[in-house]
Amino acid sequence: LRKEAYTAVKKMFTAAEKDGVKLKILSATRNFTYQKRIWLAKWLSAPNNKIKDTSKRAEAILEYSAMPGSSRHHWGTDIDLNSLNGGDFESGVGLKIYTWLSENASTYGFCQPYSKKGKTRPTGYNEEKWHWSYLPIAQKLTEVARKKLKNEMITGFLGAEAAVKLDVVNNYVLGINKDCVK
Ligand SMILES: [Zn+2]
Repeated sequence: LRKEAYTAVKKMFTAAEKDGVKLKILSATRNFTYQKRIWLAKWLSAPNNKIKDTSKRAEAILEYSAMPGSSRHHWGTDIDLNSLNGGDFESGVGLKIYTWLSENASTYGFCQPYSKKGKTRPTGYNEEKWHWSYLPIAQKLTEVARKKLKNEMITGFLGAEAAVKLDVVNNYVLGINKDCVK
């Protein structure tokens, strides 16, 4: 993580601990090669490998995973916390963690970019209650992506050609919680 983001993470973790909430980083910064490994594993394994249409196969992976080159995890500002399974945040300890993050993460500069999908967030990855983004830096990088990142630039892995058809930049990279854009 970038130093400023990591400092904010530490502050947030200390505050959470005082409230009896134990936060844990599962994943933070991932480079292109790492993200390509994740993508390729999903591309080549069941059930996705049964999908013949390239765009549909990419779309299935894009429910939760970004195309290499387009992930916020490349930015050094984004973290996955505690569990990669949304159901874990719906009761017990997980619910307590998510409630705490919803109420307090913004104090430390963090926002949940992949909020519930619906009217206000019609496209993009499914909801990820574990993924938090350090906004003071990430919102600037979102604007850089908006201006400079083109679907045609997303290349170098199996299925990359679907980026143009699916308009990955607009629908996924920019398909985020409006509170993370301001
Ligand atoms: Zn994530």
